[in-house]
Amino acid sequence: MITRVRAAACANIALTKYWGKAGPGNAPATPSISLALSALRTETVVERVRGGRDRVILDGRPADRGTRTRVGAYLDLWREQGLLRGNFRVDSRNLFPTAAGLASSASGYAALAAALSAFSPRRIGRIELSRLARLGSGSAARSVPGGLARLPAGPDPAARRLLPPAAVPFGMVVALAATGEKETGSREGMLASARSSPYYRAWLRQARRDDREMRAALAAGDLPRIGALAEGNMAAMHAVMLATRPALLYWNEVTIRLLGAVRGWRRRGLAAWATVDAGPHVVLLCAREDLPRAARRARRVPGVRGVIESLPGGAAEVIEIEER
Ligand code: ADP
Repeated sequence: MITRVRAAACANIALTKYWGKAGPGNAPATPSISLALSALRTETVVERVRGGRDRVILDGRPADRGTRTRVGAYLDLWREQGLLRGNFRVDSRNLFPTAAGLASSASGYAALAAALSAFSPRRIGRIELSRLARLGSGSAARSVPGGLARLPAGPDPAARRLLPPAAVPFGMVVALAATGEKETGSREGMLASARSSPYYRAWLRQARRDDREMRAALAAGDLPRIGALAEGNMAAMHAVMLATRPALLYWNEVTIRLLGAVRGWRRRGLAAWATVDAGPHVVLLCAREDLPRAARRARRVPGVRGVIESLPGGAAEVIEIEER
């Protein structure tokens, strides 16, 4: 009997964003394309326990109630599908800031799904694993294949890999614009936007166009086009967020300073572009060889709390299985 499994996954940052739900089970209303980042890694150990209660440890401490409930419901979902039996202790560590808009739920649920799949009585393939991860967190679906991955819109999609990490010619620099957790989680934020943002429908249409163009730009390896599309898609998503009532303002003054700085760097010859998720941090996209230069410049922007330089990351994986 398998008693303990260790798994890992990388968080991902989207070039074209998932913002909006099409239905239950984190069905996305927009297609999205993302890059997994090797520096944003989560490791999760799932251990079988006696007694009828699951336990959740996050970053070395008992998890908060919200996280506990969400992970518990996720384990229930696996149990209801006959993929899991018994109770478990989930001990997860994000090797980067949790719940600050760095997609910790993506790597968290991808690593958890990968670990749980090892306990399953039947084999779970990559595509099914991506679907299962999506049920925990929409963007976790993309952390399962890793590399450059695309999650289509629709009722029950799985993410597929567009390019393996070694074939992706660019990387990312994460510039931390704040410390601490963000105010509104992605889940609630998306629902609020769909309910009240007057730009929501226009966003859904634009997301489809950006998806088509991004795929073409990626196939052509056209970095300036990829960067421009990523910036445009990000700006459109934040416009939808800002127009949500009450407004979802994820940016702070450091975010804006960074966005302005990147334009200046570009004019002066550094080919870098910016994207921002549902949080204040700015993520720079640039060719692999420009990563150190972009990181150095980001570090010098006043108010930046830290900089994480990252190459493309791989798929979610089971690292260790213990049996008795
Ligand atoms: P983020 O942009 O960091 O994903 P969200 O607000 O969307 O922010 O999600 C953060 C939530 O995801 C946390 O409050 C927690 O419930 C969950 N989470 C984060 N890391 C993990 C993990 N390693 N394992 C399980 N759940 C996690």
